[in-house]
Amino acid sequence: MSDAPDDIAERKMQFLFALRSRGVTEARVLNAMEKIDRGLFIRGTFAMRAYEDMPLPIACGQTISQPSVVGLMTQALRLTGREKVLEVGTGSGYQAAILSHLARRVYTVDRHRRLVAEAMEVFRTLDLTNITALTSDGSFGLPDQAPFDRIIVTAAAEDPPGPLMTQLKEGGIMVVPVGQSDTVQTLIRVTRTASGFDYDELLPVRFVPLVEGLGRDGHP
Ligand code: SAH
Repeated sequence: MSDAPDDIAERKMQFLFALRSRGVTEARVLNAMEKIDRGLFIRGTFAMRAYEDMPLPIACGQTISQPSVVGLMTQALRLTGREKVLEVGTGSGYQAAILSHLARRVYTVDRHRRLVAEAMEVFRTLDLTNITALTSDGSFGLPDQAPFDRIIVTAAAEDPPGPLMTQLKEGGIMVVPVGQSDTVQTLIRVTRTASGFDYDELLPVRFVPLVEGLGRDGHP
């Protein structure tokens, strides 16, 4: 595979086609995913596979999610452009960059300092000034900035973390992969209502686990 402009254009078309065929159909989401180059978020040998619809390894033993899953999770958030969003699990920063096009303000946290630093570099390159990235344990949310209109968790928990539930505004939506197993989890959407929470099961997914405490460099 060469990097000639025609090949890149062709690969990007296939990328968008794969998204649509897996159910990413909202024009605003597709448009954001067309604009944000996934190749910028993947370093090293896997960068050449950036436009394939598959998760890929990133630093600290983590993964950048599969693009169609990024699209489906983004769609499930039902963003209008006015929201303050919290993402738990910055990873490469790709999901946060997509959100930055579709929401007013994005806070993203990761337990690995190195991932946060690398993602911030890409945000600067792309001039995405409405994202704040922080190193912290996202299982506790981000109390200083709460409440949030939307919360997206991109690591799997056994149950939606309690602090995240309390940091969701009334009418707010959280999407989070839940499940006991490392291999199969269910993506659920939690909607906060006046009287409690509604739950929808969306699709089977596979994410790295939500881990408590900060990461030490070189130790997943
Ligand atoms: N959204 C990312 C992919 C995330 S992979 C992207 O677009 O590339 C999951 C990330 O969750 C990993 O980077 C991992 O370090 C992070 N993570 C796991 N447990 C966490 C926790 N308790 N707090 C914050 N981040 C966590």
